[in-house]
Amino acid sequence: MKYYNDNHSENPFLTSRPVTQTTDYRFYPLPRAHKLSSKDINHKCLKYKMSSKLEKAKKNTEEGKQVQQAEDKLSNLAKSLDVNSKDYFVYNMQERKLLRSFYFSTAMCRLRRSIELATIRTKDRAAAAERRFVKGGSNNALVMGIGNAGTGVGSTIKGYDRRGGKWLPKLYTRYAKVAMTDEYMTSQLCLYCYFPIVHAKTSSNKTVLGSARCLNPKCEAFKHGRACNNRDVMSATAIGISAMTKFLYSRSFPPFTKGNHQ
Ligand SMILES: [Zn+2]
Repeated sequence: MKYYNDNHSENPFLTSRPVTQTTDYRFYPLPRAHKLSSKDINHKCLKYKMSSKLEKAKKNTEEGKQVQQAEDKLSNLAKSLDVNSKDYFVYNMQERKLLRSFYFSTAMCRLRRSIELATIRTKDRAAAAERRFVKGGSNNALVMGIGNAGTGVGSTIKGYDRRGGKWLPKLYTRYAKVAMTDEYMTSQLCLYCYFPIVHAKTSSNKTVLGSARCLNPKCEAFKHGRACNNRDVMSATAIGISAMTKFLYSRSFPPFTKGNHQ
């Protein structure tokens, strides 16, 4: 609340309609979210162990230093030569034995096998933790609405892993009903008034990309001083609403339906 008033005093709506601090019983805040980060998964899957082991070996052992040199040489060559060219292939073949003995040593192969097992275990546990969170002690059957976008893998963000893919919905199908839901517009609209949202800004005028801020002065969230929300939580709730509408009324939820927007 203080954050909002401090940072958005230039808001044109604020002068005419001051944000009230009281929340009445009709206002429902967004639900709490369960978080699962790729960092956690990487740690538990022993992926970080592998990378630190390789890093240390390259720094401290004689073989590792040779491997590092060979890799530097190859990466420099890759800049000048075409990676698919014959010359590059010849250089690559010269270093092949060294690289193979380093990356496929007995210890490394063992670690890789452990990673494989740890990955299965970690993913199962992550899915179980989320199911437990969603159920919250009730014995009712679980129905999950999962967005259908972002099921690809690979990362375009440097330094970050994207642990996307279909593994999580697949794991959930063992124990729950999973509804793959269209994600269209779910991260673009305010959930309280279905007006488009913008990113919130900090006091230093920096955009907070993970936030969703509603500028509609008639919006309930805006009136209650909750115009800023976590964008992911809001989208997740929207996907849930969208999925439930489809279940209960066999129809798409109008604000999140393609063709309803020009
Ligand atoms: Zn709104």
